[in-house]
Amino acid sequence: MIKIKKRKILLLPGDGIGAEVIGEVKKIINWFNKKKSLDFQTEEGLVGGVSYEKHKKPITDEVFYKALESEAVILGAVGGPKWDNLEFSKRPERALLKLRKELKLFANLRPAICFKQLVDASSLKPEIVSGLDIMIVRELTGGIYFGEPRGIKPIENGERKGINTHSYTSSEIIRVAKVAFELAQKRNKKVTSCEKSNVMEAGVLWREEVQKVKDEDYPNIELKHMLADNCAMQLLRDPKQFDVIVTDNLFGDILSDEAAMLTGSLGLLPSASLGAKDKNGKMRSMYEPVHGSAPDIAGKGQANPIASILSFSMALRYSLDLDKEADNLDKAVQKVLDDGLRTKDILSKGKKEVSTSQMGDAIISKLK
Ligand code: NAD
Repeated sequence: MIKIKKRKILLLPGDGIGAEVIGEVKKIINWFNKKKSLDFQTEEGLVGGVSYEKHKKPITDEVFYKALESEAVILGAVGGPKWDNLEFSKRPERALLKLRKELKLFANLRPAICFKQLVDASSLKPEIVSGLDIMIVRELTGGIYFGEPRGIKPIENGERKGINTHSYTSSEIIRVAKVAFELAQKRNKKVTSCEKSNVMEAGVLWREEVQKVKDEDYPNIELKHMLADNCAMQLLRDPKQFDVIVTDNLFGDILSDEAAMLTGSLGLLPSASLGAKDKNGKMRSMYEPVHGSAPDIAGKGQANPIASILSFSMALRYSLDLDKEADNLDKAVQKVLDDGLRTKDILSKGKKEVSTSQMGDAIISKLK
């Protein structure tokens, strides 16, 4: 069989259940290599607490350079109680921040999909969430988490003042808006842009720039502007009104967690962080489940690998141009859920409990 071109993927399992869930992704990559004659070349590296244990830093330069050279980075999770008291620069999360910052991953994509098979896991009524499929695009490298000046300083009357600055430039807004419009182009052609233009100048600029991008480049996309607080309410009242939501770093942090909870389980939620395309159309990217390292269940074979497997599916779709393979994988996950197989976190009456690796094997058995 003819082999297609080599695709370089870096796997960073990290801490806790990270190694278990990325282990299942590895099995799927091997399946594609063997059965579909794809040529994924995987390398692995240490990040987070496991890197600190060996190298006294959460990510080494060697691993960082591997990330720079790969077409997609797939990360498990980092952190755990063992490293909670380390000084800030050595903490496991610093590895993530470094990767996001240095790879210039400015757009964070968080799909919130409510699988019909798991509709009971949501705290909302089934008719509100069943079949939900929205994509939240959060700006990831600007806004109030990075703006200057910042800090805590003493003021005249003996009090202290905490300061953070919310600021955005036109180009920061335009590039993330384009990501949202491009996604909507392949989905239901609807973008909702959220800010607080009623009280914030940066929100006014956000609204104006997003509108300009739509008018100039995406006339066929329906654009709605919504205040972020209203969006928080609408997500609970009628989430299916949304297709793609684009918003800044702070509001995106909150709204994407809210949307995630509409779907019921952390173990099912993937994410992608994307950078800018270079002149050859190449883009840096990192894919990771939304959940953390789950120290309470690490090593017990109970972790749900679906969030990581769907993160790999996003990598196939957005970084590797392998949409057919991504569809194949997404459908395999659906079929396993149809068959009633569940890891402990999504188990309900009448369904069959399976371990992390049994879930991975079942998904592989449904791949075509
Ligand atoms: P968590 O997401 O690790 O766990 C929250 C709860 O959800 C736990 O009960 C856990 O058992 C369960 N859970 C999470 N993922 C699961 C899965 N795939 N299958 C089944 N159950 C799952 O959040 P936490 O407990 O607040 O944090 C634990 C550690 O993870 C902390 O050190 C935190 O800093 C870190 N963390 C890392 C990331 C990341 O790497 N991106 C994200 C969040 C938290």
